[in-house]
Amino acid sequence: MLAPHLPPLPDRFKQLPLDPRGYPVPKFVAQIDGRWDFRVVRPGWLVECFKMHRCWLCGDPLGRTRTFVIGPMCSVNRVTSEPPSHYECAEYATRACPFMLFPNRKRDETNMPADGVIADGHIPRNPGVICLWITREPYKPFQAGNTVLFRLGDPERCQWRREGRPATREEVLQSIESGLPLLHAIAEKEGPRAIEELMRLRGVALQTYVPGGLLAA
Ligand SMILES: [Zn+2]
Repeated sequence: MLAPHLPPLPDRFKQLPLDPRGYPVPKFVAQIDGRWDFRVVRPGWLVECFKMHRCWLCGDPLGRTRTFVIGPMCSVNRVTSEPPSHYECAEYATRACPFMLFPNRKRDETNMPADGVIADGHIPRNPGVICLWITREPYKPFQAGNTVLFRLGDPERCQWRREGRPATREEVLQSIESGLPLLHAIAEKEGPRAIEELMRLRGVALQTYVPGGLLAA
């Protein structure tokens, strides 16, 4: 049975199994020793989503418009680790996923399988706000160390959530500014051009994508 505090499932989620708590289990979730582990991506799922244009969460085919669920820093550097979803599926996740609903909840890193791909975690912090990056542009994979990341195309619009409700401009700005030193440290290793580019991208994000910006909804 669906956990009583969860919002009603969108249609495409009704085909998903429920875990013992009554949470729907998105398709990306790996099963380890017979138990779902929401922190670990099922082997092969990322490639299948990319090649077959499947929704990361429900597994159904995607249309032309796709929604990426990203953290605030990804709206600056336009890099993400997860393929896109249907808007309805992504939006539901922002209201049902405990990690997105409770920003102070730390990601539980205990007993992680050594070779598991960690779900949506290339910056190890909980950003507090989540961006729905809605786009028709293609996204391009590239190799980063021993993982594959994706470069995002321009969005048609962005929506922001915090604790399951729309996030304010202030909340988004604060999260971007507090995460910026992480990206700055990476750019510093790459040299002055990378720092300049990071500052340019930050300017674009603040003008265009955050609440109150040109493409924010
Ligand atoms: Zn879906």
